[in-house]
Amino acid sequence: MIKRRKTREITLGTLKIGGNNPIVVQSMTSTKTHDIEATISQIDRLIKAGCEAIRVAVPAKEDAEALKEIVKYSEVPIIADIHFVPYMAFLSMEAGAHGIRINPGNINKKEIVRDIVLEAKKRNICVRLGVNSGSLEKHLLEKYGYPSAEALAESALNWSEFFESLGFYNFKVSIKGSDVIQNALANEIFAEKTDTPLHIGITEAGMGTQGIVKSSVGLGILLYKGIGDTIRVSLTDEPEKEVEVAYEILKSLGLKKKGIDIVSCPTCGRIEVNLPNVVKQVQEALKDKDLSIKVAIMGCAVNAIGEASHADVGLACMKGGALLFKNGKILKKVTEENMVSELLETIEKYYQEV
Ligand code: SF4
Repeated sequence: MIKRRKTREITLGTLKIGGNNPIVVQSMTSTKTHDIEATISQIDRLIKAGCEAIRVAVPAKEDAEALKEIVKYSEVPIIADIHFVPYMAFLSMEAGAHGIRINPGNINKKEIVRDIVLEAKKRNICVRLGVNSGSLEKHLLEKYGYPSAEALAESALNWSEFFESLGFYNFKVSIKGSDVIQNALANEIFAEKTDTPLHIGITEAGMGTQGIVKSSVGLGILLYKGIGDTIRVSLTDEPEKEVEVAYEILKSLGLKKKGIDIVSCPTCGRIEVNLPNVVKQVQEALKDKDLSIKVAIMGCAVNAIGEASHADVGLACMKGGALLFKNGKILKKVTEENMVSELLETIEKYYQEV
């Protein structure tokens, strides 16, 4: 069981972050925000995938204006992503954004950061304070020689203190290093020194297997240490994929329950049934169901009975069929032809009972 870092609770729209609240899964739209129809349609898909807070890019005035409609429509909090043009932060707050993300390092003047923070305070808007290796302050670069983990953490601590000196606490911090190790270290240093909630992610993780692995390792290291109050998996892919991967990471660490958790064996020469086909059929049948359940589908008697009996529902396959388990107990022997339908029926019953 992972012991999560104790952080202060903050509010993003109707969502509570930090404290004892579950880790929040975030993603970001890839549409032009001013294309309201396309953005709303993507938000719908993200919500369906389980996304709990959604960031949208606000590079121009027309994007900030579109926020008025988008915020009205969205069932989850909307965060305006601001870079380089602080005016967009004010417009986004005016338009009703529940949160804004700023990187003080790319806003030249401290007074402007102060004004943004005071406006957020007045409107009770959540701010994500971002620090990354590309926009580190000159004095820290001089002090450390390069954007080291220590330099990134120090920048985040300095800005946090500045926010707090303005009496503003409704913020979280994100620190993005250039690689997985530096990222982990910078977040750890920061986490040890404050109770400010952390948004964690591996920026620009990439595409396909590389992106998923990099994100899983980077987030996994921090989550295992109890660090992380909101997460985003950044992939060069559809945003829904980011949400799917985020849940898989959290599920694998026992930090969130969503959807079915299928434990299936990799198969080997002992296999007596078409296991990949069985797993595919079960996944397909349950993909749109909002169930939290652990299902074991194992290829033979080696490990199978143990694994299947530890799951909520399971199949331990054998020549010509399988043993069907529920709550650790064998229910019956099923034939190969019927094993999928019998398993699905048992899952249905399991849900009626819990
Ligand atoms: Fe092989 Fe059986 Fe293990 Fe599956 S459960 S990998 S079939 S030994």
